[in-house]
Amino acid sequence: VFIAFEGGEGAGKSTQVSRLGEWLTGRGRAVRTTREPGAPTAVGPALRSLVLDPATTGLAPRAEALIYAADRAQHVHEVVRPALAAGEVVITDRYVDSSLAYQGAGREIAVEEVAGISRWATGGLRPDLTVLLDLPPEVGLARARGRAAADRLEGEPVQFHRRVRATFLALADAEPQRYLVLDGTRPVDELAGTVRQRVAELVGE
Ligand code: C5P
Repeated sequence: VFIAFEGGEGAGKSTQVSRLGEWLTGRGRAVRTTREPGAPTAVGPALRSLVLDPATTGLAPRAEALIYAADRAQHVHEVVRPALAAGEVVITDRYVDSSLAYQGAGREIAVEEVAGISRWATGGLRPDLTVLLDLPPEVGLARARGRAAADRLEGEPVQFHRRVRATFLALADAEPQRYLVLDGTRPVDELAGTVRQRVAELVGE
């Protein structure tokens, strides 16, 4: 079973990924939690710093899209497919939809083109469930700024993040059976509970 968490800056994805991972582990499931960009692979950390270091300037949108795609291709090859083949529940913090939203709508590359390279990079591997933690960019950016060192994306205008949000919501709308859309401003425990209910159906708990 393959589960992805998606959402904008400061949406609370990593908290929910670990909460879900802990719950499943507690129920005796083999779980692999993982993330992008900067997948835990041979090249992930280097690719993450390439795209996110504020010192990287002048990166062309298509080059950026290919770096994300390379990180994801290695992630799927080295981590996701082997774990799925071993029967583990794989939970990733970001996947293809982040590229459709950020490199597509954000950087204004046609979303179908980004979808095309993503399909190629992943060999067409899609999540069984995508949890979208939705919240207004103003709220998420304020949370993110209070927390970590700035990355390249936080300097983007709020309109960029609004396009990203709208794209995530449109993707979820187009495929409601594969998405769980949650209000990311709700309390952490409440969100974790709703996610557990949905995942319980999926994994047969
Ligand atoms: O999820 P995380 O905070 O680790 O993401 C790091 C940064 O990478 C964020 O600023 C996010 O907006 C950006 N990103 C991106 N395109 C992706 C995935 C993440 O621009 N496909």
